[in-house]
Amino acid sequence: MDSIPLPAIEFKHITKYFTGSERQRAVLNGITAKVSPGKITTLVGPSGSGKSTLLSLCNLLLSPDEGEISVFGKPVSEWEIPELRRKVALVFQDAPMLQGTVLYNLQTAERLHGTVLHDPSGLLERVGLTRDLLDQKAQDLSGGQRQRLALARTLANRPDILLLDEITSALDPASVKEVEDLLLQMNKEEGTTMIWITHHMEQARRVGNETWLMIDGKLVEQADTETFFHAPQHSETRRFIAGEW
Ligand code: ADP
Ligand code: MG
Repeated sequence: MDSIPLPAIEFKHITKYFTGSERQRAVLNGITAKVSPGKITTLVGPSGSGKSTLLSLCNLLLSPDEGEISVFGKPVSEWEIPELRRKVALVFQDAPMLQGTVLYNLQTAERLHGTVLHDPSGLLERVGLTRDLLDQKAQDLSGGQRQRLALARTLANRPDILLLDEITSALDPASVKEVEDLLLQMNKEEGTTMIWITHHMEQARRVGNETWLMIDGKLVEQADTETFFHAPQHSETRRFIAGEW
């Protein structure tokens, strides 16, 4: 029997172009990589290197121009989109909230995916919010509370893969720690696979099992996090870690 676990996500020769004012430019340029199931892969790289674009291909917010992406062994083009987006959830910084209460925001996220929300209070408590917030307007929450509500909305659908796009960059240090702890616990207890974009090297190091460096649309380095920071293979990685990029 095959004992090698199926990658949670596999990128095969992915190229993506955006048409700019002057010419077509490859924003992703031949990305080939496997995301290990049950692990946290931290994705780092300079601003504009293509990190967010790579994540948005995984649940078909965008499609690649060349190459193929598979989720649990099945090409994304063969998935039903609602099913794919339930399993592969994208959370980004400052995710917009619907006008209405916290409860309404949780319920609407659920209905979108055809499931029923059984325990909204429990869901809030999981992300460190108290149940008395259920009746408050989502817009009145603080930045940190809104970011946690966005996570709670996502967790309601019990995704297998979380794509996290700089979700803690606007939070104060105490909230960063709480969100990190919550996600680490989810990863440990439920085996949720994560790709976690961050521009904080210390965070990439704290939470990652594996770390990838993207520069100019290419994956320059893919290594386990320990090796990435202590013994990287490439000079670009050494320069990036040293803050010289
Ligand atoms: P990162 O997340 O690493 O900062 P992005 O994936 O957001 O990088 O962007 C990579 C490049 O693609 C940037 O140069 C950005 O300006 C460009 N880009 C992103 N989205 C679009 C779009 N919808 N149309 C044209 N160019 C885009
Ligand atoms: Mg980005």
